[in-house]
Amino acid sequence: MAYLGNPARTKEVLAKFGMSAKKKFGQNFLIDSGVLDGIVSAAGVTKDDCVLEIGPGIGSLTQYLAESAGKVVAVEIDKTLIPVLADTLSEYDNVTVINEDVLKVDIEAIVKEYNGGNPIKVVANLPYYITTPIIMKLFESGAPIESITVMVQKEVADRMAMGPGNKDYGSLSLAVGYYAKASEVMDVPPSSFIPQPGVGSAVVKLTRYSEPAVCVQDEKYMFEIIRTSFNQRRKTLSNSLANNPALRVSRDQVQAALAEMGIDEKARGEILSLEQFARLSDILQRSSA
Ligand code: SAM
Repeated sequence: MAYLGNPARTKEVLAKFGMSAKKKFGQNFLIDSGVLDGIVSAAGVTKDDCVLEIGPGIGSLTQYLAESAGKVVAVEIDKTLIPVLADTLSEYDNVTVINEDVLKVDIEAIVKEYNGGNPIKVVANLPYYITTPIIMKLFESGAPIESITVMVQKEVADRMAMGPGNKDYGSLSLAVGYYAKASEVMDVPPSSFIPQPGVGSAVVKLTRYSEPAVCVQDEKYMFEIIRTSFNQRRKTLSNSLANNPALRVSRDQVQAALAEMGIDEKARGEILSLEQFARLSDILQRSSA
């Protein structure tokens, strides 16, 4: 089998189909076999696994996944790539390509149909323009997902793995930390792609916890607090939270809650850990109107 993960084959396939990468779909095709190997081995894919790939492109990563996994289901939005994938993946009988927008598909239904509702692994070189919505959809879908091993913008990988007090710490760090353990697998330079992205990349692995990392009475309310705190990063917590009518709390109530937790009343959200946000959420919810 002639693998696609190199510059010559990638250019050949694009030329054969008269295609070029589409910016609007975040298309940057991997041409580095070392990186492709690294992704598949970090994901720990075996023949017992069903893998969901998001955005197979021309099939470079899909080929590697098809070799290692029992089953691969690949969701691609760009309909012009479907005949390309039929060609480049013709040797594999364990791949199903679905021509859909991943943000609109029912992930749980896919897991049911292709893996009998058993846990799957997600592996992808993500389209960077929708990284956060995709990650949040995967976590919030309720589908059994064991791990998510994905190529993302380096800056986003850093944000996912950061703790409080760091400039990259924010609502994405907290959301990821609630559901999974994040570890950076490797940095990837722009030269590993055609066309080269304007930013550095990194592969990150999110291994899902069996239960969320903290116990909180109402996770929606907690995530509303988190979003509000980081949307208005420069304001104190008491000012930003009191400004959001959805939270139904006054400045005094927030200050009292912070005092109860032994936190300075002028604190900003960026110093609070996930555990502290959970506690603040429970206290505020009790006192909210
Ligand atoms: N996996 C290929 C590789 O590594 O060479 C391509 C990766 S490229 C960075 C991102 C892929 O995601 C493209 O094929 C793009 O068309 C696809 N894509 C973009 N938005 C999508 C969406 N909403 N749903 C599904 N696929 C999408």
